[in-house]
Amino acid sequence: MAFTKKTVRDIDVSGKKVLMRVDFNVPLKDGVVTDDTRIRAAIPTITYLKEQGAGIILMSHLGRPKGDGPEPELTLKPAADKLAELTGYDIKFVDDTYGEKAAEACAAVEPGDILVLENVRFLKAEKKNDPEIAKKLASYADIFVLDAFGTAHRAQGSVVGPAAYIPAVAGFLLEKEVDTLTSIFADPARPFVAIVGGSKVSSKIGVLDHLIDSADTLIIGGGMAYTFFLAKGYTVGTSLQEPDWVEAAGKMLEKAEAKGVKILLPIDNVVTDHFGEDAVGEVVDSDRIPDDRMGMDIGPKTEALYAEAIAGAATIFWNGPMGVFEIDQFAHGTKVVAEAVAANEACTSIIGGGDSVAAVNKFDLADKMSWISTGGGASMELVEGKALPGVEALLDA
Ligand code: ADP
Ligand code: MG
Repeated sequence: MAFTKKTVRDIDVSGKKVLMRVDFNVPLKDGVVTDDTRIRAAIPTITYLKEQGAGIILMSHLGRPKGDGPEPELTLKPAADKLAELTGYDIKFVDDTYGEKAAEACAAVEPGDILVLENVRFLKAEKKNDPEIAKKLASYADIFVLDAFGTAHRAQGSVVGPAAYIPAVAGFLLEKEVDTLTSIFADPARPFVAIVGGSKVSSKIGVLDHLIDSADTLIIGGGMAYTFFLAKGYTVGTSLQEPDWVEAAGKMLEKAEAKGVKILLPIDNVVTDHFGEDAVGEVVDSDRIPDDRMGMDIGPKTEALYAEAIAGAATIFWNGPMGVFEIDQFAHGTKVVAEAVAANEACTSIIGGGDSVAAVNKFDLADKMSWISTGGGASMELVEGKALPGVEALLDA
């Protein structure tokens, strides 16, 4: 599916003032950005706008301010400094978002300038999509650009608001994310192998449901596998389990069978007696999990089975680790799966979800993947087949 909204390419921005919502919600430690992935992801659009001669005003949220006014530890200044460092551009910053000071700074923006506004969430009204906020922001510029994929699923003032007052188009990151994460459902190269893990069936039911509609094989791992085991009549000991979701898991298995989608569940597991850094694992088959043991990772036979399925894939979508990868002795299954995806160089591999992306980074395999989504919640909503409010608000192509 092609992206169906206008982008910065479809509108004349030269000599115009452009207000762009980016996702600079980066982790900070002692006032320094510790992971600049999201800032880097916004640079192609910023550079394009600058080269076209637009005056650029950037805005973002950062962290979770209370919304009662400025909170010094959540200022966007460090993100603005990081942008300057990464691009070599002169980046201006104003410690205001909706007041006179911000309005004056925006009025002074000349073609080629880049100004960063203060954290949009220092005011509660932003999250509520208050029309006053939207009008104020729109008054700063001629054109609105949304490139904040990570918040595009939120109908908030700085995400959807300005689109009601000035022409609104997508930036390159938003376009690429939406295009990538929707095209796998429209016309994937086959076989399409989807891998879903993580902790809970309940948080992934929409994802599983939509994947069964288009994948050829669905690989299941992580804590959610145990609720599927219950649906198959196995006992799961003290493993993570959601009794209220056993029926839903059973329905997924039935749906997959009816559609001819192959489901792979763990055939063996690494289990232990308690959850902790010092826990010791042992391998047991899936139909023999002792009553006092919990599953923490997929076992070696499962690793081999999953790696083989992954090796034969032409398209791969992966969300959710195969085990408790934060603890080294239970990270092996996730690592083997990540390595198998990385080794299949001919396939299109798309990774989404906060912890899955963290796992791929931990194993240093990020550059072997075709696309790593920058948005956790937003990418999951696309994979569930939902439309994103931020995208909906943009001009149709
Ligand atoms: P993502 O962020 O990629 O969408 P999730 O948030 O759904 O992934 O799941 C990640 C979490 O699942 C990790 O914190 C991991 O420790 C946990 N997890 C994986 N396997 C198990 C398991 N067998 N038991 C308990 N937790 C698990
Ligand atoms: Mg997560």
